[in-house]
Amino acid sequence: MNKVTQFSTMGALVGGRFEGAFPIKNIIESGDHGIGTLEGLNGELIILEGKPYVIESTGLVREVSEDEMSPYASVMDFQPTKTFNLKGSYNKSQLDEIMTKEINGENHFHGAKITGKFKVINARSAKKQQQPYPKLVDAVKEQGYFDFESTEGTLFGFYTPHFIQGIGVGGYHVHFLSHDLKKGGHVFDYEIEDVKVELALQQDFLMKMPNTDEYFSTDLNDPEMLQDIEASE
Ligand SMILES: [Zn+2]
Repeated sequence: MNKVTQFSTMGALVGGRFEGAFPIKNIIESGDHGIGTLEGLNGELIILEGKPYVIESTGLVREVSEDEMSPYASVMDFQPTKTFNLKGSYNKSQLDEIMTKEINGENHFHGAKITGKFKVINARSAKKQQQPYPKLVDAVKEQGYFDFESTEGTLFGFYTPHFIQGIGVGGYHVHFLSHDLKKGGHVFDYEIEDVKVELALQQDFLMKMPNTDEYFSTDLNDPEMLQDIEASE
């Protein structure tokens, strides 16, 4: 418990390491909630209550099978350590600021699960890439953009301390799945009402490194890595 398990790093993803290095089976055995992507940067992965779903760049949402592969994911067994409800309407930066006040300092990982009624939600989904894989900044130029209105659903993701940028994405990184399982994606912004926030402090962190040939042979010491994460995520 209280452990984030991370499969590969943002640094590797930024460097185009989209090979499927980890079976979904192993990922969901390491945590019942999480986010990530599938082999080839195929869409946005969200794991809720042990079930993995992917939102593909076309907008299609489907359940992911255990034998599919992922290049990058972060998971935890989600047990909230702080829960609160909010009246009123909030956008992403407003809610991020409230959550940051609620967490005890900004130096730990947290899981964040947010449910409510979304007046609007802006999301994207990465498009599956072909080998040889491009860098992430180029791959996301082809992503699908979605503006959903009047939908209910769940945001799940992580607060990662900013000094860990490069391993994960510093700050809040959340994905969305609607309750009807028809809409979702990597979230840029939203307007939410009737908000329930659950936060889970995590003190342990386990990182799994890929063992693909491409990972072994890629120079990931890219001086542009941090700005590439800002541009892509
Ligand atoms: Zn994402």
